[in-house]
Amino acid sequence: MSDEAGLPRAEIRFQGLGVSPGLARGRLFVHRPEEEPLPERAVAEAELPTEIARFESALLLTRAQILDMQAKIAEAIGAKDASIFDAHLLVVEDRTLIDEVLRTLERDRRNIEAIFQEVAGRYARLLEQMDDPYLRERSMDIHDVTRRVLMNLVGKSTPALSEVNHPHLLLAHNLTPSDTALLNREHVLGFATDAGSRTSHTAIMARSLNIPAIVGLHDLSTRLETGADVLLDGYHGLLVINPSEQTLHEYEALARSQQSVEDGLVNLRETASTTADGHHVILSANIELPEDIPMVKSSGAEGVGLYRTEFFYLNKNDLPTEEEQYENYRQVASSILPHPIIIRTLDLGGDKGIGNLNLPTELNPFLGCRAIRFCLDRPDIFKVQLRAILRASALGNVKMMYPLISGLAEVRTANALLDDCKAELRAEGHTFNEKMEVGIMIEVPSAALCAPELAREVAFFSIGTNDLIQYSIAVDRVNERIAHLYEPTHPAILRLIKMVVDAAHDAGIWAGVCGEMASEVALTPLLLGLGVDELSAGAALVPRVKRAVQTLEMSVCRRLADEALRMAIPGEILVECEKVARQFYPELLS
Ligand code: PEP
Ligand code: MG
Repeated sequence: MSDEAGLPRAEIRFQGLGVSPGLARGRLFVHRPEEEPLPERAVAEAELPTEIARFESALLLTRAQILDMQAKIAEAIGAKDASIFDAHLLVVEDRTLIDEVLRTLERDRRNIEAIFQEVAGRYARLLEQMDDPYLRERSMDIHDVTRRVLMNLVGKSTPALSEVNHPHLLLAHNLTPSDTALLNREHVLGFATDAGSRTSHTAIMARSLNIPAIVGLHDLSTRLETGADVLLDGYHGLLVINPSEQTLHEYEALARSQQSVEDGLVNLRETASTTADGHHVILSANIELPEDIPMVKSSGAEGVGLYRTEFFYLNKNDLPTEEEQYENYRQVASSILPHPIIIRTLDLGGDKGIGNLNLPTELNPFLGCRAIRFCLDRPDIFKVQLRAILRASALGNVKMMYPLISGLAEVRTANALLDDCKAELRAEGHTFNEKMEVGIMIEVPSAALCAPELAREVAFFSIGTNDLIQYSIAVDRVNERIAHLYEPTHPAILRLIKMVVDAAHDAGIWAGVCGEMASEVALTPLLLGLGVDELSAGAALVPRVKRAVQTLEMSVCRRLADEALRMAIPGEILVECEKVARQFYPELLS
């Protein structure tokens, strides 16, 4: 590449966090919706009614636009994603916000767009400082809606990303749910944001749309301009500006090898996830929405190891009814037959906000009334789900598990509620599988330490390493500032996994892993060596994990695990794991 004077432009690399794998190259489009300064002027008292009328019609127009967008999204990708916009509708109807804008207008006598920007900005900042992640997330909704209202006030339409009608790589400070949901897939080759973490909305959306993406690029969107030639490497979280011939050459080779790896993986669908020396490991997939089922089937997974049902409850005005849930679980379970599906009961709280239930704000939501704790506190809500799952068990290979169990009492209380539901259903003449297997997630260190007692009362263990790591190392799983401490190969984690697996086997039950660790092929030999019986990975990653399993030998995995259990430094353990992985399947690691 060279500039106008014919001088070669230097290649510059920016490191972020790769959250959706893949490579993309193209022209950069920097999305800066707030870029243009708003007009600001004093208004006379006589002009106040005009300003108020402008404000009201901008709110109405915004409301209509949101409803329109919601309808389009519902049609394109389903009602669940569209329900994200319920929160946006609440902002345009928020009386406290609107009244404050009107009061400030009366007092300060400036044009309504300046007043609205100031008041809404103050609101959003207040929410940003809240401890509750749900409220913090709401500040994004306010930003999103504010932008729309302001655009309507100054007479411009919101710059719709879907209108960028040439192939591009999108860079933005952050992408709101409305941005990502409306991205024009035909033209967006990849995207990158300043903000975000692996569990941010942007990251989740990128993975489900299969678009390469990077987050956590700090302030890059303020430093780059539209038009640059860029290469986005979602595998390594690298954004390369003005890639040199040498870099392009290297990446062409990587793209070719990735393509041939992907092509090779397609044939694995009907094959078993059995190691080269004949040890079978159950390989299942994690899903969040029923729409994920076709991908589970094409991935060659042996069923669903984790169905995260909370997405049913988020961004909703009403709680899902028993019939709605039954219908959903029945459909998903029967479409995956004869394979099993493990439905996880509601895991709200922590980073998963609780819609409109008006629950008290907690100082430490991750340590608060989340998951099974919330369900045991609200048997009225919990029993609706238990009844729906039980009824679905009559028509599919359904198993169920409780999240965030910390001790035996919780299992017994939950099972007592389950027994109540069974008695009710029997009395009502509903059929269900009397022997439906009930397992628990091991994600709290206390549960791992009490695994022998727990194993005697449940049908299986599924280790939720995402939370187990967070709670064992005391490291918030969504906080970028301490992300370096979030180490899956920490010796404490390995020892806990080993304890859980041994306790399960001693009691004659199986133990799987359904956290992100199960999707990481560099860690497959370690998990197999620790004796894990099942791996449940993101559906898109199942074929890679299957290839890894098929190539490995158990003797090598066991040796690696034994050695790792004697080591003290997470980074050194990771190096050992990568050595084995590189020896058996180097092509999957690039
Ligand atoms: C986990 O904690 O590892 C897990 C699978 O549950 P979630 O990510 O939904 O908390
Ligand atoms: Mg969890």
